Amino acid sequence: MKKIIYTDNNATTMIAPEVFDAMKPFLTERYGNPSSMYTFGGSIHKDVEEARGKVAHLLGASDLSEIMFTSCGTESDNAAIIGTLRTYPEKKHIITTKAEHAAVLNLCQYMETEGYRVTYLGINEEGMIDINELKSSIDTDTALISIMYANNETGVIFPVEEIAEIARQRNVVFHTDAVQAAGKIPMNMTKFPADMVSISGHKIHAPKGVGALYIRRGTKFKPFMIGGHQEHSRRGGTENVASIVGLGRAAELAEEHFDDEIKRVRELRDKLEKSLLEKIPNTRLNGSKDKRLPNTTNIGFEFIEGEAILLMMDAENIAASSGSACTSGSLAPSHVLRSMGIPFTFIQGSIRFSLSRYNTEKDIDHIIKCLAPIIEKLRKISPYGN
Ligand code: PLP
Repeated sequence: MKKIIYTDNNATTMIAPEVFDAMKPFLTERYGNPSSMYTFGGSIHKDVEEARGKVAHLLGASDLSEIMFTSCGTESDNAAIIGTLRTYPEKKHIITTKAEHAAVLNLCQYMETEGYRVTYLGINEEGMIDINELKSSIDTDTALISIMYANNETGVIFPVEEIAEIARQRNVVFHTDAVQAAGKIPMNMTKFPADMVSISGHKIHAPKGVGALYIRRGTKFKPFMIGGHQEHSRRGGTENVASIVGLGRAAELAEEHFDDEIKRVRELRDKLEKSLLEKIPNTRLNGSKDKRLPNTTNIGFEFIEGEAILLMMDAENIAASSGSACTSGSLAPSHVLRSMGIPFTFIQGSIRFSLSRYNTEKDIDHIIKCLAPIIEKLRKISPYGN
Protein backbone atom coordinates (compact mmCIF):
# COMPACT_ATOMS: atom_id res chain seq x y z
CA MET A 1 0.00 0.00 0.00
CA LYS A 2 1.28 3.46 -0.92
CA LYS A 3 2.07 5.81 1.96
CA ILE A 4 -0.90 7.98 2.72
CA ILE A 5 -0.36 11.66 3.43
CA TYR A 6 -2.88 11.96 6.19
CA THR A 7 -4.10 15.47 6.93
CA ASP A 8 -7.52 14.66 8.36
CA ASN A 9 -6.61 14.43 12.03
CA ASN A 10 -9.67 16.37 13.21
CA ALA A 11 -11.71 13.47 11.81
CA THR A 12 -9.65 10.78 13.49
CA THR A 13 -6.02 10.00 14.26
CA MET A 14 -3.60 7.13 13.94
CA ILE A 15 -3.24 5.08 17.12
CA ALA A 16 0.19 5.94 18.45
CA PRO A 17 2.46 2.83 18.54
CA GLU A 18 3.08 3.46 22.25
CA VAL A 19 -0.68 3.49 22.85
CA PHE A 20 -1.11 0.21 21.00
CA ASP A 21 1.69 -1.38 23.05
CA ALA A 22 0.09 -0.19 26.29
CA MET A 23 -3.28 -1.67 25.26
CA LYS A 24 -2.08 -5.07 24.03
CA PRO A 25 -1.92 -6.92 27.39
CA PHE A 26 -5.55 -5.97 28.08
CA LEU A 27 -6.68 -7.39 24.75
CA THR A 28 -4.86 -10.65 25.35
CA GLU A 29 -3.81 -12.13 28.68
CA ARG A 30 -5.14 -9.49 31.09
CA TYR A 31 -8.83 -9.79 30.21
CA GLY A 32 -10.25 -9.83 33.74
CA ASN A 33 -13.06 -7.60 34.94
CA PRO A 34 -11.74 -4.73 37.08
CA SER A 35 -14.71 -5.15 39.45
CA SER A 36 -13.77 -8.75 40.35
CA MET A 37 -12.63 -9.70 43.86
CA TYR A 38 -9.78 -11.98 42.75
CA THR A 39 -6.41 -10.53 41.77
CA PHE A 40 -6.60 -11.54 38.09
CA GLY A 41 -9.52 -9.16 37.59
CA GLY A 42 -9.30 -6.79 40.53
CA SER A 43 -5.66 -5.88 39.86
CA ILE A 44 -6.81 -4.31 36.58
CA HIS A 45 -8.70 -1.67 38.57
CA LYS A 46 -5.29 -0.16 39.31
CA ASP A 47 -4.54 0.18 35.58
CA VAL A 48 -7.87 1.92 34.99
CA GLU A 49 -7.12 4.32 37.83
CA GLU A 50 -3.63 4.98 36.49
CA ALA A 51 -5.17 5.90 33.14
CA ARG A 52 -7.64 8.15 34.94
CA GLY A 53 -4.71 9.87 36.61
CA LYS A 54 -3.06 10.51 33.24
CA VAL A 55 -6.25 12.00 31.75
CA ALA A 56 -6.71 14.08 34.92
CA HIS A 57 -3.15 15.34 34.53
CA LEU A 58 -3.69 16.28 30.88
CA LEU A 59 -6.71 18.37 31.86
CA GLY A 60 -5.16 19.74 35.04
CA ALA A 61 -8.00 18.21 37.10
CA SER A 62 -7.54 18.41 40.84
CA ASP A 63 -9.05 15.04 41.68
CA LEU A 64 -9.26 11.64 39.94
CA SER A 65 -12.98 11.46 40.67
CA GLU A 66 -13.47 14.38 38.29
CA ILE A 67 -12.75 12.09 35.31
CA MET A 68 -15.52 9.80 34.07
CA PHE A 69 -14.69 7.47 31.19
CA THR A 70 -17.24 7.23 28.38
CA SER A 71 -17.47 5.53 25.00
CA CYS A 72 -16.77 8.62 22.85
CA GLY A 73 -16.99 12.38 22.56
CA THR A 74 -20.65 12.16 21.58
CA GLU A 75 -21.48 10.25 24.76
CA SER A 76 -19.53 12.75 26.86
CA ASP A 77 -21.52 15.62 25.31
CA ASN A 78 -24.82 13.79 25.78
CA ALA A 79 -23.97 12.85 29.36
CA ALA A 80 -23.07 16.45 30.22
CA ILE A 81 -26.14 17.99 28.62
CA ILE A 82 -28.75 15.41 29.54
CA GLY A 83 -27.20 14.90 32.99
CA THR A 84 -27.44 18.64 33.71
CA LEU A 85 -30.98 19.01 32.38
CA ARG A 86 -32.07 16.09 34.58
CA THR A 87 -30.40 17.74 37.56
CA TYR A 88 -32.33 20.99 37.06
CA PRO A 89 -35.72 19.82 35.70
CA GLU A 90 -37.37 23.15 36.49
CA LYS A 91 -35.04 25.03 34.10
CA LYS A 92 -35.89 24.82 30.43
CA HIS A 93 -33.36 26.96 28.60
CA ILE A 94 -30.07 25.94 26.96
CA ILE A 95 -27.49 28.24 25.35
CA THR A 96 -25.20 26.88 22.67
CA THR A 97 -23.78 28.07 19.33
CA LYS A 98 -24.53 27.56 15.67
CA ALA A 99 -21.01 26.18 15.24
CA GLU A 100 -21.28 23.11 17.48
CA HIS A 101 -20.62 19.57 16.35
CA ALA A 102 -23.70 17.43 15.67
CA ALA A 103 -23.13 15.74 19.05
CA VAL A 104 -24.33 18.95 20.70
CA LEU A 105 -26.31 20.64 17.95
CA ASN A 106 -28.57 17.71 17.08
CA LEU A 107 -29.12 16.92 20.75
CA CYS A 108 -30.14 20.54 21.43
CA GLN A 109 -32.50 20.44 18.45
CA TYR A 110 -33.96 17.23 19.86
CA MET A 111 -34.38 18.87 23.28
CA GLU A 112 -36.49 21.56 21.61
CA THR A 113 -38.98 18.84 20.67
CA GLU A 114 -39.02 17.92 24.38
CA GLY A 115 -40.12 21.41 25.40
CA TYR A 116 -36.75 23.12 25.88
CA ARG A 117 -35.95 26.59 24.56
CA VAL A 118 -32.53 26.78 22.93
CA THR A 119 -30.53 29.90 22.07
CA TYR A 120 -28.08 29.24 19.24
CA LEU A 121 -25.46 32.01 19.37
CA GLY A 122 -24.34 33.22 15.97
CA ILE A 123 -20.75 33.39 14.76
CA ASN A 124 -19.13 36.16 12.73
CA GLU A 125 -17.02 35.92 9.59
CA GLU A 126 -14.00 34.96 11.69
CA GLY A 127 -15.98 32.05 13.16
CA MET A 128 -16.16 33.80 16.55
CA ILE A 129 -19.10 34.23 18.92
CA ASP A 130 -20.16 37.54 20.46
CA ILE A 131 -19.74 37.52 24.24
CA ASN A 132 -22.39 40.24 24.64
CA GLU A 133 -24.93 38.07 22.84
CA LEU A 134 -24.10 35.30 25.30
CA LYS A 135 -24.46 37.61 28.30
CA SER A 136 -27.83 38.92 27.17
CA SER A 137 -29.14 35.41 26.45
CA ILE A 138 -28.75 34.14 30.03
CA ASP A 139 -31.93 34.29 32.11
CA THR A 140 -33.29 32.69 35.26
CA ASP A 141 -34.55 29.73 33.23
CA THR A 142 -31.08 28.89 31.81
CA ALA A 143 -29.99 25.42 32.93
CA LEU A 144 -26.84 25.10 30.87
CA ILE A 145 -24.39 26.81 28.54
CA SER A 146 -22.70 24.34 26.19
CA ILE A 147 -20.10 25.95 23.94
CA MET A 148 -17.28 24.15 22.21
CA TYR A 149 -13.64 24.87 23.06
CA ALA A 150 -12.39 24.73 19.47
CA ASN A 151 -14.29 24.23 16.27
CA ASN A 152 -13.65 21.01 14.36
CA GLU A 153 -13.96 22.62 10.92
CA THR A 154 -12.06 25.88 11.28
CA GLY A 155 -10.02 25.21 14.42
CA VAL A 156 -11.25 28.54 15.83
CA ILE A 157 -10.86 28.66 19.61
CA PHE A 158 -13.75 30.21 21.52
CA PRO A 159 -13.13 32.41 24.59
CA VAL A 160 -14.10 29.57 26.92
CA GLU A 161 -12.31 30.94 29.98
CA GLU A 162 -14.32 34.15 29.77
CA ILE A 163 -17.51 32.16 29.13
CA ALA A 164 -16.81 29.93 32.13
CA GLU A 165 -16.37 33.01 34.33
CA ILE A 166 -19.62 34.54 33.08
CA ALA A 167 -21.45 31.25 33.67
CA ARG A 168 -20.04 31.03 37.18
CA GLN A 169 -21.10 34.59 38.01
CA ARG A 170 -24.60 33.90 36.71
CA ASN A 171 -24.77 30.55 38.48
CA VAL A 172 -25.29 28.53 35.30
CA VAL A 173 -23.57 25.20 34.55
CA PHE A 174 -20.98 25.49 31.77
CA HIS A 175 -20.04 22.52 29.61
CA THR A 176 -17.45 22.72 26.86
CA ASP A 177 -16.93 20.21 24.08
CA ALA A 178 -13.13 20.10 24.05
CA VAL A 179 -12.93 17.10 21.73
CA GLN A 180 -10.77 19.05 19.27
CA ALA A 181 -8.82 21.13 21.78
CA ALA A 182 -7.76 18.52 24.34
CA GLY A 183 -4.28 17.21 23.70
CA LYS A 184 -3.58 19.90 21.09
CA ILE A 185 -3.34 22.87 23.43
CA PRO A 186 -2.69 22.84 27.18
CA MET A 187 -5.70 23.01 29.46
CA ASN A 188 -5.74 23.53 33.19
CA MET A 189 -9.00 22.95 35.00
CA THR A 190 -7.71 24.48 38.22
CA LYS A 191 -7.53 27.82 36.42
CA PHE A 192 -10.36 27.35 33.92
CA PRO A 193 -13.70 27.34 35.74
CA ALA A 194 -15.75 25.15 33.35
CA ASP A 195 -17.97 22.61 35.10
CA MET A 196 -17.79 19.88 32.47
CA VAL A 197 -15.40 19.13 29.62
CA SER A 198 -15.78 16.46 26.92
CA ILE A 199 -12.85 14.72 25.29
CA SER A 200 -12.53 11.84 22.82
CA GLY A 201 -9.77 9.24 22.47
CA HIS A 202 -9.63 8.90 18.71
CA LYS A 203 -8.76 12.57 18.23
CA ILE A 204 -5.58 12.21 20.30
CA HIS A 205 -4.01 9.02 18.94
CA ALA A 206 -5.99 6.64 21.18
CA PRO A 207 -8.54 4.22 19.68
CA LYS A 208 -12.09 4.97 18.63
CA GLY A 209 -14.78 4.10 21.15
CA VAL A 210 -13.38 5.73 24.26
CA GLY A 211 -13.75 9.22 25.69
CA ALA A 212 -14.00 11.03 28.98
CA LEU A 213 -16.06 13.68 30.66
CA TYR A 214 -14.46 15.96 33.23
CA ILE A 215 -17.01 16.80 35.93
CA ARG A 216 -15.75 19.41 38.38
CA ARG A 217 -15.93 18.27 41.99
CA GLY A 218 -19.17 19.58 43.49
CA THR A 219 -20.99 19.77 40.13
CA LYS A 220 -24.36 18.08 40.45
CA PHE A 221 -24.77 15.37 37.84
CA LYS A 222 -27.47 12.79 37.22
CA PRO A 223 -26.25 9.73 35.31
CA PHE A 224 -27.03 9.46 31.66
CA MET A 225 -26.11 5.75 31.43
CA ILE A 226 -27.91 4.03 34.26
CA GLY A 227 -26.55 0.66 35.31
CA GLY A 228 -23.86 -0.70 37.61
CA HIS A 229 -21.64 1.01 40.14
CA GLN A 230 -18.79 1.72 37.70
CA GLU A 231 -17.35 5.22 37.34
CA HIS A 232 -18.58 6.23 40.82
CA SER A 233 -22.10 5.09 39.83
CA ARG A 234 -22.22 7.86 37.23
CA ARG A 235 -21.84 5.63 34.17
CA GLY A 236 -22.86 2.00 34.35
CA GLY A 237 -21.14 -0.55 32.15
CA THR A 238 -18.04 -2.74 32.42
CA GLU A 239 -15.04 -0.58 31.67
CA ASN A 240 -13.49 -0.69 28.19
CA VAL A 241 -10.19 -1.41 29.90
CA ALA A 242 -7.85 -1.66 26.90
CA SER A 243 -9.13 1.56 25.38
CA ILE A 244 -9.12 3.38 28.71
CA VAL A 245 -5.48 2.37 29.22
CA GLY A 246 -4.85 3.55 25.63
CA LEU A 247 -6.50 6.89 26.35
CA GLY A 248 -4.33 7.29 29.44
CA ARG A 249 -1.15 6.61 27.47
CA ALA A 250 -2.32 8.96 24.69
CA ALA A 251 -2.94 11.71 27.25
CA GLU A 252 0.58 11.25 28.57
CA LEU A 253 2.05 11.40 25.05
CA ALA A 254 -0.01 14.48 24.18
CA GLU A 255 1.57 16.30 27.08
CA GLU A 256 5.03 15.21 25.97
CA HIS A 257 4.32 16.51 22.46
CA PHE A 258 2.68 19.84 23.32
CA ASP A 259 5.77 21.84 22.39
CA ASP A 260 6.07 20.01 19.06
CA GLU A 261 2.37 20.47 18.28
CA ILE A 262 2.43 24.14 19.14
CA LYS A 263 5.65 24.94 17.29
CA ARG A 264 6.55 22.41 14.57
CA VAL A 265 3.02 21.37 13.60
CA ARG A 266 1.94 25.01 13.57
CA GLU A 267 4.86 25.88 11.29
CA LEU A 268 3.92 23.08 8.90
CA ARG A 269 0.29 24.23 8.91
CA ASP A 270 1.36 27.84 8.29
CA LYS A 271 3.64 26.83 5.44
CA LEU A 272 0.85 24.86 3.78
CA GLU A 273 -1.68 27.64 4.25
CA LYS A 274 0.60 30.44 3.08
CA SER A 275 1.71 28.55 -0.03
CA LEU A 276 -1.81 27.59 -1.09
CA LEU A 277 -3.19 31.09 -0.52
CA GLU A 278 -0.29 32.67 -2.40
CA LYS A 279 0.03 30.21 -5.26
CA ILE A 280 -3.62 29.65 -6.08
CA PRO A 281 -5.87 32.58 -7.08
CA ASN A 282 -9.40 33.00 -5.68
CA THR A 283 -8.67 31.28 -2.39
CA ARG A 284 -9.47 32.37 1.15
CA LEU A 285 -8.78 31.30 4.70
CA ASN A 286 -11.99 30.41 6.53
CA GLY A 287 -11.91 31.47 10.17
CA SER A 288 -9.71 33.52 12.45
CA LYS A 289 -6.01 33.38 11.61
CA ASP A 290 -4.83 33.86 15.17
CA LYS A 291 -7.35 32.33 17.58
CA ARG A 292 -6.96 28.85 16.18
CA LEU A 293 -5.73 25.35 16.94
CA PRO A 294 -2.15 24.94 15.72
CA ASN A 295 -2.98 21.98 13.47
CA THR A 296 -5.99 23.19 11.46
CA THR A 297 -6.49 25.24 8.33
CA ASN A 298 -9.69 25.55 6.32
CA ILE A 299 -9.22 26.99 2.86
CA GLY A 300 -11.91 27.93 0.37
CA PHE A 301 -11.14 27.41 -3.34
CA GLU A 302 -13.69 29.43 -5.27
CA PHE A 303 -15.80 28.04 -8.12
CA ILE A 304 -15.19 24.31 -7.52
CA GLU A 305 -16.67 21.43 -5.55
CA GLY A 306 -14.73 20.30 -2.48
CA GLU A 307 -15.62 16.68 -3.21
CA ALA A 308 -13.95 16.90 -6.63
CA ILE A 309 -10.80 18.27 -4.96
CA LEU A 310 -10.88 15.44 -2.41
CA LEU A 311 -11.17 12.80 -5.13
CA MET A 312 -8.26 14.23 -7.09
CA MET A 313 -6.18 14.53 -3.93
CA ASP A 314 -7.09 10.93 -3.12
CA ALA A 315 -5.50 9.89 -6.42
CA GLU A 316 -2.31 11.53 -5.07
CA ASN A 317 -2.71 9.66 -1.73
CA ILE A 318 -3.63 12.81 0.18
CA ALA A 319 -6.43 12.56 2.75
CA ALA A 320 -8.20 15.72 3.86
CA SER A 321 -11.80 16.72 4.38
CA SER A 322 -14.46 18.99 2.98
CA GLY A 323 -16.59 20.27 5.83
CA SER A 324 -16.96 18.13 8.93
CA ALA A 325 -15.75 14.59 8.37
CA CYS A 326 -18.27 13.25 10.83
CA THR A 327 -20.99 14.33 8.41
CA SER A 328 -19.21 13.12 5.28
CA GLY A 329 -21.58 11.27 3.04
CA SER A 330 -23.73 14.37 3.04
CA LEU A 331 -23.13 16.96 0.36
CA ALA A 332 -24.94 19.65 2.38
CA PRO A 333 -22.76 22.73 2.69
CA SER A 334 -21.08 23.11 6.07
CA HIS A 335 -23.36 24.68 8.72
CA VAL A 336 -20.30 26.32 10.29
CA LEU A 337 -19.12 28.06 7.12
CA ARG A 338 -22.71 29.06 6.30
CA SER A 339 -23.15 30.59 9.77
CA MET A 340 -19.96 32.58 9.16
CA GLY A 341 -21.59 34.15 6.10
CA ILE A 342 -18.92 32.89 3.72
CA PRO A 343 -19.99 33.23 0.07
CA PHE A 344 -21.50 30.05 -1.33
CA THR A 345 -18.96 29.94 -4.19
CA PHE A 346 -16.23 29.47 -1.56
CA ILE A 347 -18.13 27.19 0.83
CA GLN A 348 -18.62 24.53 -1.83
CA GLY A 349 -14.89 24.36 -2.47
CA SER A 350 -13.65 24.51 1.12
CA ILE A 351 -11.10 21.97 2.29
CA ARG A 352 -9.96 21.34 5.85
CA PHE A 353 -6.40 20.16 6.41
CA SER A 354 -5.75 19.01 9.98
CA LEU A 355 -2.23 17.91 10.82
CA SER A 356 -0.71 15.85 13.60
CA ARG A 357 2.72 15.20 15.05
CA TYR A 358 3.17 12.45 12.46
CA ASN A 359 3.15 14.91 9.52
CA THR A 360 6.45 15.94 7.98
CA GLU A 361 7.69 18.76 5.78
CA LYS A 362 7.74 16.27 2.88
CA ASP A 363 3.99 15.75 3.29
CA ILE A 364 3.37 19.47 3.11
CA ASP A 365 5.58 19.88 0.05
CA HIS A 366 3.72 17.06 -1.70
CA ILE A 367 0.33 18.69 -1.03
CA ILE A 368 1.58 22.09 -2.22
CA LYS A 369 3.00 20.53 -5.39
CA CYS A 370 -0.20 18.61 -6.20
CA LEU A 371 -2.88 21.11 -5.32
CA ALA A 372 -2.29 23.99 -7.77
CA PRO A 373 -2.63 21.77 -10.87
CA ILE A 374 -5.67 20.02 -9.35
CA ILE A 375 -7.45 23.34 -8.76
CA GLU A 376 -6.49 24.62 -12.21
CA LYS A 377 -7.83 21.49 -13.89
CA LEU A 378 -11.10 21.59 -11.93
CA ARG A 379 -11.68 25.28 -12.57
CA LYS A 380 -11.40 24.69 -16.31
CA ILE A 381 -14.37 22.32 -16.14
CA SER A 382 -16.25 24.11 -13.34
CA PRO A 383 -20.00 24.56 -14.01
CA TYR A 384 -19.81 27.86 -12.04
CA GLY A 385 -17.44 29.24 -14.68
CA ASN A 386 -14.43 31.37 -13.86
N1 PLP B 1 -17.28 17.12 19.21
C1 PLP B 1 -16.44 17.55 18.27
C2 PLP B 1 -16.02 18.98 18.28
C3 PLP B 1 -15.96 16.68 17.29
O1 PLP B 1 -15.13 17.13 16.36
C4 PLP B 1 -16.38 15.33 17.32
C5 PLP B 1 -15.96 14.39 16.26
O2 PLP B 1 -15.55 14.79 15.19
C6 PLP B 1 -17.24 14.92 18.35
C7 PLP B 1 -17.68 15.84 19.28
C8 PLP B 1 -17.72 13.50 18.45
O3 PLP B 1 -16.70 12.70 18.98
P1 PLP B 1 -16.79 11.10 18.82
O4 PLP B 1 -16.51 10.80 17.39
O5 PLP B 1 -15.75 10.57 19.74
O6 PLP B 1 -18.16 10.72 19.22
